[in-house]
Amino acid sequence: MTKEEILQKHKQYIFPSVFTYYSEPLVTDHAHMQYLSDVDGKQYLDFFGGIVTISVGHTNPRVTSKIKAQVDRLQHASTVFPNEAIVSLAEKIAHIAPGDISQSFFTNSGTEANEMAVQLARTHTGSFEIVAMRHGYSGRSQLAQGLTAHAPWRKSLPGTFGVVHALNPYCYRCPFGATPDSCGVECAKDVENVIQTTTSGQIAAFLAEPIQGVGGFITPPKDYFKIVSRIVQEYGGLFISDEVQTGWGRTGNKWFGIEQWEVTPDVITSAKGMGNGVPIGLTATTPKIAASFKGLTISTFGGNPVTSVAAKEVIDIIEEDKLAENAAAVGAYWRAALEALKEKYSLIGDVRGMGLMQAMELVKDRKTKEPAAQETNTLMEEARREGLLIGKGGLMGNVIRMSPPLNINKADVDEAVAKLDRAFAKVSANMRAPAR
Ligand code: PMP
Repeated sequence: MTKEEILQKHKQYIFPSVFTYYSEPLVTDHAHMQYLSDVDGKQYLDFFGGIVTISVGHTNPRVTSKIKAQVDRLQHASTVFPNEAIVSLAEKIAHIAPGDISQSFFTNSGTEANEMAVQLARTHTGSFEIVAMRHGYSGRSQLAQGLTAHAPWRKSLPGTFGVVHALNPYCYRCPFGATPDSCGVECAKDVENVIQTTTSGQIAAFLAEPIQGVGGFITPPKDYFKIVSRIVQEYGGLFISDEVQTGWGRTGNKWFGIEQWEVTPDVITSAKGMGNGVPIGLTATTPKIAASFKGLTISTFGGNPVTSVAAKEVIDIIEEDKLAENAAAVGAYWRAALEALKEKYSLIGDVRGMGLMQAMELVKDRKTKEPAAQETNTLMEEARREGLLIGKGGLMGNVIRMSPPLNINKADVDEAVAKLDRAFAKVSANMRAPAR
């Protein structure tokens, strides 16, 4: 098919709610490690990784060779028949997961992982209500949309009840109008207020992303989750850490994002980077909590041998190649360069994130912090022209989200920053140009 045919058929045969980036959508053709090419043969340095999913590089040969061998051996038999692939993956997760987390339930997506976590918390505690966080994103099922707290992603509501949302630790736009040095972490204390005033006083769980992904890499103050986890425990809830974006070394040095905040969760959910592109969802917890899920449950494709060998290989690569350490080192180098860009361009109001998940919130004016959504789109177009793929997020669509593969090096960062610099220069020049 030609590019035009693909675009025309996409419009004709795919739901229109499946949106695409860019004024002229980028039609992908092939990819290898940190590079992706479109059907016109243009190559891009990929600093978004298929929405925070490519953790060890596109078509990483170690992963694809495992996939190919497993496809030829056994592609599917379902979970009613045990196999080596699923138990090897589950065993590996048990070894690296925090606390007593050592049992896994596999599904096909982050949405399903969160569904299972909430069902589990409800059966375990006998309580129903869930506290989630404003600006959070949990997936696209009816329940996951209810957990999500962004209007554009909740359009099929009403349909969920028993979920309330606490204020989030959004320091750049503090809901209390405070600054991090003197705020007393009021946002964490708000969780108690939310439980006392908007629930029955007994909750099943608190569910949060250690760094809010779709929300625009909103990174909490150091003590936020420590305070919240104490509150959640006091009111009988489980602590569910949604590691769909923050897991597997992405934040640097640690396997899971929540470990950065020195909190041991009861349940971990994940997907995305765990499979480097194969569809997988994970709900992992302690044997005690897992045992409380009574009755039968099944996910036909969950723990499929092909996805399982892929995910196990991804985790092995991250471990053997010390990619969590690489994410910390290259991430720090990159962060310094992004802070320097902030000095240069007033369009950048905030730089935030951790390790190899870094974001820039764009504002029209640093004093008013008016979101620069249009400029964010223009910047993405300019970056594309430069041959750099970056993502977007934030409630107002004014946050540039970047999440390159964990095995990039400083030269890749230099290349990306040079491209970003040129893209910002163009967008800033247009902003300054007098209106005609
Ligand atoms: N949780 C988080 C934090 C996510 O970012 C996402 C996807 N963006 C999901 C859950 C849902 O994952 P999926 O799209 O695989 O269902």
